[in-house]
Amino acid sequence: PRVLEIPAASLVLLIGVSGAGKSTFAARHFRPTQVVSSDHYRAVVSDDENDQSATDDAFTILHAVVDRRLQRGLLTVVDATNLHTHARVALRRIARRHNLPSVAIALVPPVDVIRQRARERSDRALSAKAIDRQLTDLQHALDRLGQEGFRAVYVLRDPATVDTVTVRLVP
Ligand code: ATP
Ligand code: MG
Repeated sequence: PRVLEIPAASLVLLIGVSGAGKSTFAARHFRPTQVVSSDHYRAVVSDDENDQSATDDAFTILHAVVDRRLQRGLLTVVDATNLHTHARVALRRIARRHNLPSVAIALVPPVDVIRQRARERSDRALSAKAIDRQLTDLQHALDRLGQEGFRAVYVLRDPATVDTVTVRLVP
């Protein structure tokens, strides 16, 4: 089984379109307090985790939490799509400020799996158009991740791999 080595004091960015399995992966491999989620902070500021107008406020708080955790050298996992360069740059900058490495974990299930999950989801309405836009953004992100300065970039495509990987914290 594949082992993802992650520095014990680092910032981990989960990357993936809606329905890629980021929150599921985070819950499986990390403690709840280690995971900071954009949806969670959208709900905190607006009572609605799907309220996109709350995105700026949610990320202001998310960045502050990331900053305070990394100040303490605590492993911090960002559960957000992280599809846009500027989103990743802003987060990596916080880690750099604390002299800590960043790691990227991209969850990239087959497109038909993504579309199927979007149709089946009851907690979130996702138009086919929105999914397509995210898939385009994801492709751009995957093209760039290797050059962005992450300590490690893990791209998980095969659903069987996603379900069997283990995370090993390393010094
Ligand atoms: P969003 O960006 O919208 O929050 P997400 O990337 O966090 O999406 P999840 O909520 O983790 O995605 O998963 C979306 C759906 O896919 C859920 O219904 C979940 O049960 C299913 N799913 C996630 N991971 C797996 C998996 N490894 N195997 C089977 N189903 C999965
Ligand atoms: Mg999620």
